Amino acid sequence: MSATTEPRQVVTRFAPSPTGFLHIGGARTALFNWLFARHHGGKFLLRIEDTDKVRSTKEAIDAILDGMNWLGLDWDGETYFQSHFAARHAEVAQQMLEAGHAYRCYMTQEELAEQRAKAQAERRPFKVNSIWRDCAADAPTPDAPFVVRLKAPRTGETVIEDAVQGRVVVQNSELDDMVLLRSDGTPTYMLAVVVDDHDMGVTHVIRGDDHLNNAFRQLGIIKAMGWPEPIYAHVPLIHGQDGAKMSKRHGATGVDAYRDELGMLPEALSNYLLRLGWGYGDEEIISREDAVKWFDLANVGRSPSRFDIKKLENLNGHYIREAENGRLAGLAAPRIEKLIGRPLAESEIATLGQAMEVLKPRAKNVDELAEGGTFLFKTIPLDVDERAAALLEGQASELLTRVHTALSGLDEWTAEAAEGAVRSVAEQAGVKLGQVAQPLRAALTGRATSPGIFDVLLLLGREESLARLADQMTKEQ
Ligand code: GLU
Repeated sequence: MSATTEPRQVVTRFAPSPTGFLHIGGARTALFNWLFARHHGGKFLLRIEDTDKVRSTKEAIDAILDGMNWLGLDWDGETYFQSHFAARHAEVAQQMLEAGHAYRCYMTQEELAEQRAKAQAERRPFKVNSIWRDCAADAPTPDAPFVVRLKAPRTGETVIEDAVQGRVVVQNSELDDMVLLRSDGTPTYMLAVVVDDHDMGVTHVIRGDDHLNNAFRQLGIIKAMGWPEPIYAHVPLIHGQDGAKMSKRHGATGVDAYRDELGMLPEALSNYLLRLGWGYGDEEIISREDAVKWFDLANVGRSPSRFDIKKLENLNGHYIREAENGRLAGLAAPRIEKLIGRPLAESEIATLGQAMEVLKPRAKNVDELAEGGTFLFKTIPLDVDERAAALLEGQASELLTRVHTALSGLDEWTAEAAEGAVRSVAEQAGVKLGQVAQPLRAALTGRATSPGIFDVLLLLGREESLARLADQMTKEQ
C-alpha cells in the first residue's frame, strides 16, 4: 500500500463491505468521513472490504462507487481493495506470533463446541480458553490445522475516548483471544481492518456504533504492534420511526432507490443524511460548502436518529425549486419516455425545461415533475382519465367551443391574453371561471390536475392547444 501521509494530516476512510447496494447508513458514514477530511484539509480514502468473495461481485462494488459518485463524495487516490492486502495481513500475524502477542491454536471444533456448551450451561458468555495460549508444545501432529489467535490481555482495562460516545471502558477480562488468521491462512476482518487502517495512515475512524465493541478488540492488535491509536468516532445508527434499526420494512434502504424509485436529488439526500445525527444550531438547509466549513464530531448526537421520509421529501422539494430547469428536464425526461412509450426529441426536452418553471413549485420528487410534464408530449386523441372525463360532460363541449373561438382570435399567445379570453367566455356564459377552466384543463391535458391552465396554454403553444380543444369539442358527450 502506498498511501503515505504527512504527520498529523487528517486521514479518514470509508470501508464498506459490498452488500449489493450503498445503504443509506453507509452513505451517511461516508459523508461524515468525507466532510471531516475536507474540513481539516485532509484525505478521505475508500477501501472496499471485499474479503467475502461471494458477496463482492463487480455489480455489488459498482453499486457502492455509483452511490458515492452520485452523492458527490469523491475519494483521494486509488480505490483500495482489502483482498489485495491478504499477504500483508498474514505478515503482521507472523510478526505478532514472533513477538509473543499471538499464538497458534490447535483446538479442534469439538473442543470449542464443548467449551461453548459448558459456558451456556453455566449461563456465562462464551470466551475461548485455549491451552495453546501459554503452551510451548509443538503441534499435536505435524500437519494439524491451526488458527492464529491474539493473546489478549486478561487484566486491566481498555479505554476509548470516543469522539462521539465519550469515554468508554471495557475490562480486559471481557475480551477474548480472537482469531487473526483462519486455518486456511486467510485474515479475519478484525486483523485486516486494523492493518489496512494503519498502513493507510488513517487518523480518525468514523463509523457506525455497531462497531464499538470491535474497536476494543481491534485495539488489542494495535497495542500489540505498538502502532498509534486512531481517534474513534462511533456514530449511532439510523433507526426507523418505530425506533428499531432502519431496515427494509421501514422503507428504502439503498441510496439507488432514493434516486431511481423515489426521485430524490443527491443534494437533498445528502443534506438530509447530514442533519440526521449532526446539527449546527437550527440550520436545516445546509449547502455542501457550509457543511465542509461547519462539520465537526462534537455535534454528532449520541442517540440514534429516526428516519423521517416527510422531512426528506420537504428538503427534496426545496432543492427541486432551487435546481436549474435544464437539469430537472434531463432527470424527468427518461421517466416521461417510459410513461409515453417513446423517446423525446431534443426540442421537446427544451420545452420540458421551460415547463419546469411551473412544475417545480409543486413537486416533491422527480416523478412528480415527470407526471406533471407528461401532458406536453401526448398525442391527439389524448388519453383522458376518469376524473378528467367527468369534467368534459354536460355543457363542457359548448364552453370549449366558445373558448376555442376566443383563443383563435388572439393576436398574441401569452398567458395574460389567454387569461383575458377565458375570463370573458366565463362572463358571457354567466359561469364561474373554474367552470370553464376545469373542462379546458381536461381537454388540454387529459387530467383533472395540472399546472395553472394559462401556463399550460402557453407551454403547448397556439397550434397544439387549439387542436386539442377542437378534438374534444367534436366528441359526442
Ligand atoms: N467493512 C465494515 C462494514 O461494512 C466496516 C469496517 C469499519 O468501518 O471499520 O461494516
